[in-house]
Amino acid sequence: MKDCLFCKMVAGEIKPDMVMQNDQLIAFRDINPQAATHILVVPRRHISTLNDLAQEDAGIIESMVSAARTIAHQQGIAASGYRLVMNCNQAGGQTVYHIHLHLLGGRPMGWPPG
Ligand code: 5GP
Ligand code: ZN
Repeated sequence: MKDCLFCKMVAGEIKPDMVMQNDQLIAFRDINPQAATHILVVPRRHISTLNDLAQEDAGIIESMVSAARTIAHQQGIAASGYRLVMNCNQAGGQTVYHIHLHLLGGRPMGWPPG
């Protein structure tokens, strides 16, 4: 997608602080971290929102969660704990319309979320 921020990162036109890359996804530090560790896991393929996921995209979500688990270990937050978040559309708090998984850790999380 031409005007998508995360597609530009996937294409290498914008270079975020990358922590993982594979053939399915990239993962990088959030520019406005909400926790000591705040990493975004982004599929290479452009999908605007969770509502646009098709049945055959199930593997993408699996690979995103798998990557987040690996990164949590690498970042040393697996044992203490972390939160995975996906925001969908306006009321869900989505601001970038290319699906992504937030990995947040390094501090206690409140519940319910805001
Ligand atoms: P959303 O609100 O859509 O769930 O999450 C979008 C996230 O992207 C936000 O946490 C925001 O801080 C992050 N973000 C927005 N622009 C940039 C950027 O240019 N670089 C990085 N690394 N993160 C960004
Ligand atoms: Zn995109």
